[in-house]
Amino acid sequence: MQKNDVSKMRSTFLLKSKNNNHYLFDKKLKELKAISKAEYENFDKIESASNEKVSSFFSRKCQFLKDHGYFGRIDNLKKFSGRLSLDNVKYNIANLTQLVFEVTDRCNLNCTYCAYGSLYCDYDIRHNINLSFNEGKKIIDYIIKQSKTNYANLSSKPLIISFYGGEPLLNFEFIEKTVHYVNGKEFNRPVSFSMTTNGLLIHKHLDFLVKHNFNLLISLDGNEEGNSYRVFKNDNKAFSEIKRNIDIIAERYPQYFKEKVNFNAVLHNRNSVISIMNYVKSTYNKIPRIAPLNDSGIRETSKKEFEKMFKVIDEQELSKNEKYRDVCKDLFLNLPSFTTISTFLLNNTSIFKNSINNVLLDRNETGYIPTGTCTPFSKKMFVTVNKKIMFCERISQNYFAGFIDNMEEGLASLVEKYNEYIQKLESQCQKCYNNDSCSLCMYYIENLDDKPVCKHFTSKEKYKNYLEAVFTYLENNEQNILRIKNEVVID
Ligand code: SF4
Ligand code: SF4
Repeated sequence: MQKNDVSKMRSTFLLKSKNNNHYLFDKKLKELKAISKAEYENFDKIESASNEKVSSFFSRKCQFLKDHGYFGRIDNLKKFSGRLSLDNVKYNIANLTQLVFEVTDRCNLNCTYCAYGSLYCDYDIRHNINLSFNEGKKIIDYIIKQSKTNYANLSSKPLIISFYGGEPLLNFEFIEKTVHYVNGKEFNRPVSFSMTTNGLLIHKHLDFLVKHNFNLLISLDGNEEGNSYRVFKNDNKAFSEIKRNIDIIAERYPQYFKEKVNFNAVLHNRNSVISIMNYVKSTYNKIPRIAPLNDSGIRETSKKEFEKMFKVIDEQELSKNEKYRDVCKDLFLNLPSFTTISTFLLNNTSIFKNSINNVLLDRNETGYIPTGTCTPFSKKMFVTVNKKIMFCERISQNYFAGFIDNMEEGLASLVEKYNEYIQKLESQCQKCYNNDSCSLCMYYIENLDDKPVCKHFTSKEKYKNYLEAVFTYLENNEQNILRIKNEVVID
């Protein structure tokens, strides 16, 4: 590749799977062909401009492919040159799908790994305060107003209003007033409620939650040992009280429990995917969501403690367990391999062309915004207890979009800041071979305000290895392609 042509990357790859099958894959055409070993070797000689002799038969074949678009280049300068606009943001707000309130920063637990505890440093200081209903009301009114503007899309999905904390039930007054207020208002689409809770106060408010059909996500890290980081302020273990409350829901409202209650487990050094699955499935007949600890924003002085606890889902290790097949079946997209394959199929094939939007989508068009960051408010709006407006609860609270009282003014500077960050990363992304499948949120990249360097930058060699691993996986797990096609929902 010449220096002045640095962002025009090759679009065709010659690949060999671990099963010794050979392929020709074109990123731009989104086409995959099985080829013979001889074709692989000869095309490779031609492409690498080697001096080795190539018979005219293979030269002509290669030329034929070139005439039909193979072995071309992708102009990444054009393709990844997009920027966020104020219109993008207004559109997202008018069609918001989830509004999350951090209703309190108080909690009745003191979990060792808490994202608002001593391990992390990228959140606002906890002041033991509640969000007042009057503040929440301002946002609900704003959302209703925006959903009546010309930006609103009639086919918008339902709006989910979620309560988050701290422990949200410590500010039940906010939840109760909000639910009554929302139910008395006119929305242009269905509204439902959800809550993430540690479960300790559920028995006090269960009738209300059931009456208003709340989706409950209860934090539960498996069995007693798995839950041993979930402790009260006096260090006593919380497991038996949490379990008692979950059992109350299951006994008093079995149908509600079956349909509306789900579990969220944090993976760490005292549990495992298998132990979590065994416990939650055999005790409650549920498949929990399992996620590792967030590894960004760790306090310098807590790094050792964090590393001791931190664990990712290790599929190689998991595959040695006799229950691996069952776990795969149950966890599906919770497993990194399924996510990788789904992302690959979504970005490189027509397997997901199952809706009118996808049929009309041309993935070769220009003007994509680099990185895998969502556009603000396309997934949710998060309102913090300190009245900050954010577009995600998973990123540092330093990246906020404004405050409840100056929402509109905040949006313009949000767009400016977002584009400033994108500008800093653009040249890395234009040269990155994984740029059209990137799912990395830029807000997790260190030094975003200074000179960010993406640790996940993918070279040509690394990308080729990734493709070969993907094709080997697909050869070995053909049945999963169908499952991904039928069950993965694109939003
Ligand atoms: S982590 Fe980043 S990309 Fe993901 S929803 Fe949050 S802001 Fe968007
Ligand atoms: S992995 Fe990093 S460099 Fe590559 S596209 Fe994503 S953000 Fe850009």
